[in-house]
Order: sequence, then C-alpha cells, then structure tokens
Amino acid sequence: MRLLGDDALESASARLGTRFWIYPQPPFIPGYEQPDRVWLSIPRDEIGEGPSDPTMYVVDPILDKQPYSFNQLPPFGGPKRAPPTPGPDRHFDNLLPDSRAFLGVHAYACVHFVLDIWQSYLGRPIRWFFSQTFPRLEIVAFVNWDNAQAGYGFLELGCSDIDGIRRPYALNFDAIAHEVGHLILLSETGIPTAPSQGDDFFPFSEAFSDVVSLISFLHFDSAIDRLLRRTRGNLLLYNELNRFAETSPETQIRLATNFRRVSDTTRNVHDRALPFVGAIFDTIVELYHRELVARDCADIRLVDIDVRDLEQDDFDRFRQMTADAFQVKPMIFRLALTAARDAVGQAVAVALRTLDPNTLRLDQAAYAMMAAAGGATAELLESNFAWREIITSTGMDRRWR
Ligand SMILES: [Zn+2]
Repeated sequence: MRLLGDDALESASARLGTRFWIYPQPPFIPGYEQPDRVWLSIPRDEIGEGPSDPTMYVVDPILDKQPYSFNQLPPFGGPKRAPPTPGPDRHFDNLLPDSRAFLGVHAYACVHFVLDIWQSYLGRPIRWFFSQTFPRLEIVAFVNWDNAQAGYGFLELGCSDIDGIRRPYALNFDAIAHEVGHLILLSETGIPTAPSQGDDFFPFSEAFSDVVSLISFLHFDSAIDRLLRRTRGNLLLYNELNRFAETSPETQIRLATNFRRVSDTTRNVHDRALPFVGAIFDTIVELYHRELVARDCADIRLVDIDVRDLEQDDFDRFRQMTADAFQVKPMIFRLALTAARDAVGQAVAVALRTLDPNTLRLDQAAYAMMAAAGGATAELLESNFAWREIITSTGMDRRWR
C-alpha cells in the first residue's frame, strides 16, 4: 500500500529550513568546543552550492586575495576553490568542522542566523544598502589578513594571529555578527553622505554592531544555558560586582559589562561606543531581574538596593535564593532572559527607522530606543542612558550604582 501524502510531506519538510553547524563562540574558547546545530529559515531548495542563495553567496579564493577597498569591489574574479555541496538530504551539516570548506559554510550560516533574528525584530526583510549595484552580498571565506570587514557588497574574513596561532574569523560568530551589524545599520538608515556634526554616526555604528553581536549570541540555547548555569541564574549580582565579566569566556559579555561613562571615553570610536553598549546590556540584565522578581524567583529588594553596600551575609542570602529557585525552575529563568533580550532587541531594531545618519547623535539614538520600547524597558533604558551620561539625567538616577 502506498501511503498518501508522501510528496506533500517531502515538500513541507523542504520548507522547514536548512540545517547548519554554528560555533556560538570560537571553538578554542573553553566550554564552546562543540558547535550547535541550527535551522536557518531559508528552504533547502533555495540554497545552492557554495552555499549561495538569492541574497548572498560565498567565495573561497585559491590564491591570496587583497582585501577590498574603495577602488576594489566585488565580485571576486580570481580562481576559486570548488564550492561545498550539501549532503544527500540537502542540508549543510555534512561537512567536517576542521575542513577548509567548513569555513565558508559556517560564515554563511552565521550571517543568515543574525539576519533571521534582526529581520524578526524589524518585522520585514532587510534590503542590502548596496542592492542597486550588487543584488547579493559576497562573503569571502578566507583572506590572508589580520582583520574582518564588511563594506559595499561584501563581507570578508581574515584570521587573527596571536603568538603565531592563526584563527580564521570565519569560525568567530562575534566577529561575523558584528560585521553584519554594520550592514544592517547602513541598510536601515542609508549611508551618511555628510559627516554628522558630532561624528556620532561612527561610534553609534560600533555600538549597534556590538549590540547585534551580543543579542544574537543570546539566541543560542546552549549559550543561555551555560550563562545561567555558571551564574546560577543571578546575572545582576555577578554583573554588578563585575565578577563574571572578568572571567567570562564570552567576548560580547566581557565587552558589554563595562562601567564606562561618556566622560571617561576618548575620541576613539570603539571607546566612545562602550557606554552605549554597557547601557543596553545593563538594561537586559535588569529587565531579566524584574521578570524573575515577578515570577518569585528573586528577592524584590534587589531591584532598589545598592548592591555594593550589601554585607556579605545579605549578598550570600540573595544569591542563595536565586540559586535555589534556579535549581527548581530553570525554564523560568530562560524565559525571563529571552523576554528581556527580545524587549531590548526589538526596541533597538525598531528605533533604526527613525535615525538620520547625517545628523545622528548618540542621545537621539537613545531617545529613539526609549520611544520604541515603552513601559518598563523604556524606564530602564532611560536610567541606564542617563547614568552613562548619554542623555541628561532625569532625576531617576539609579540608587544602586
Ligand atoms: Zn565595527
């Protein structure tokens, strides 16, 4: 007997998406040696060898390629390595992670993973800012160069060289997500044609890209799991005392748990981005904590207290309460963290539409995010942006800093 509906099932399963491997952190980071298997929303029959699809394609040059520059743009015209092909089931989780072909497939998966997240927050597809010239993004899997860069029509990935150990950026989710952040920002706001008066566009671009990397990282179930288990659910106490920042193996979190205010920064764009990234991260942590309090998983007094004034006994007691709750109901902690992540992520994404790249100032970007957020998220963003000196204090300054 022939079962009915075979064909329909087969085509429905093709539409489910496509499987890939992604390392949430580079595989040399302790605890992240194994990749996560992820499903990208793109249907299997829309991905060709390379991989390639209607929005992007990967190339892997055989010889050393010069990085792209103002007068050197895609497409890459030199000799290329044979494009990797999917397995017989048309998924791309068939390659060995230590193979050369894996580099480009991994980079492609990272770009799509990040785009899936930010398109969800925006509620519509992102159209490349260079689409009038190049319909597709070119991803160069490997360039013999100690950097990674995204630009007009391309994303190219070199390798870091520390003490003679070379590590390809194609395996570095942080680096790729950060570069995709630059592409998303320019695609949403357009390219600045005249530098803004305060030159805030470039520090904002760095801050936004770091936030894209941080929030996208928090979309790996395995990453959330590790973070919560390591801190036993209490991000607030660890964050405040800067304990888990110093020892955190996750690059994004080390970067985001900084205590810089605007008056502490230099003119360097990466340095000027830090207070903004810190304000966003603190907001996620505090919102998460409020969710825990609302669900009876943390002590309500922690919301208003100055953690640094805590006696050791109180500190231990607060931490123990959260740890006990985490032991019993870890799912609630995961839900609280993903809700906080998405409330902030959505506000950051939606605010982009209102920004003018030519006149952008950091305080305007902050107000746009508060307006897009509303409710408790807006309140927390406001007090954090004020503490960081990005906006003028409104008198709601935080007592517990
Ligand atoms: Zn950057």
